[in-house]
Amino acid sequence: MNKSTGSITDNLDTEKTVGNVFADDAKMSMRNVNVFYSDKQAIKNVSLDLARNQVTALIGPSGCGKSTFLRCLNRMNDTIDICRVEGSLLLDGDDIYHKKMDPVLLRARVGMVFQKPNPFPKSIFDNVAYGPKIHGLATHKDDLEEIVVTSLQRAGLFEEVKDRLNASGTGLSGGQQQRLCIARTIAVSPEVILMDEPASALDPIATAVIEELIDELKEKYTIAIVTHSMQQAARISQTTAYFHMGNLVEVGLTDQIFTNPAHKLTENYITGRFG
Ligand code: ADP
Repeated sequence: MNKSTGSITDNLDTEKTVGNVFADDAKMSMRNVNVFYSDKQAIKNVSLDLARNQVTALIGPSGCGKSTFLRCLNRMNDTIDICRVEGSLLLDGDDIYHKKMDPVLLRARVGMVFQKPNPFPKSIFDNVAYGPKIHGLATHKDDLEEIVVTSLQRAGLFEEVKDRLNASGTGLSGGQQQRLCIARTIAVSPEVILMDEPASALDPIATAVIEELIDELKEKYTIAIVTHSMQQAARISQTTAYFHMGNLVEVGLTDQIFTNPAHKLTENYITGRFG
């Protein structure tokens, strides 16, 4: 375990993370990750594991690199021309940046839910059926129906929409649309789900439903969530990683990070001194 050397600047200069970046049972292992947008470095030598069947929260002030790091985990940054990723990023030991790794298949294994719900302008059924269809996961209509129903059930939406599966997905409330997007992600049987501020566009009741859902989903999936809400991170995650200016400053058990942070920068953030 890396121990704090005391001073804030020492820690940032040496880019050492306080806390244990190694998970006992890692689903994903990232080591010495650097990310650049052209010549500007957005992630600086970050190492972090995602523990299997746990929720890992990435927190920190706006612009510290949380989304950039999250998007590395399913190569979403590939779509940004000026973005360059260095380091080792493994999914169950497989190098996700290996030239033989197909990014489309990777994104089925490591799904993503975005800040603003973005259902396709299609029926509720087709929103969920789309992924399994293009990935060839269902050969018969019955199989496809079963995947759609199971995914909607797992996303906690089925009871609310079972009588209108042919209605447009865009006609649902914001919270329902986000659960539809979660169902769409689940439908291709991912192993990891990445969530980038999934509740920030939702009202408190819809947020509570999504948070409960995330807690249930971890039984089956490994989850990483970016959130600007410390209360949300404290409620739903087991591990919290605190980022500051592209550095991973501290990582630890969520309870410990929020009650007894080891690094001054983490303490300043969680006590609301900046961010
Ligand atoms: P956070 O999610 O913590 O708010 P981001 O990962 O979005 O932080 O951003 C980290 C840094 O990278 C910021 O300085 C931001 O301006 C920069 N950045 C993010 N996306 C891009 C992009 N597409 N092109 C250039 N710079 C970017």
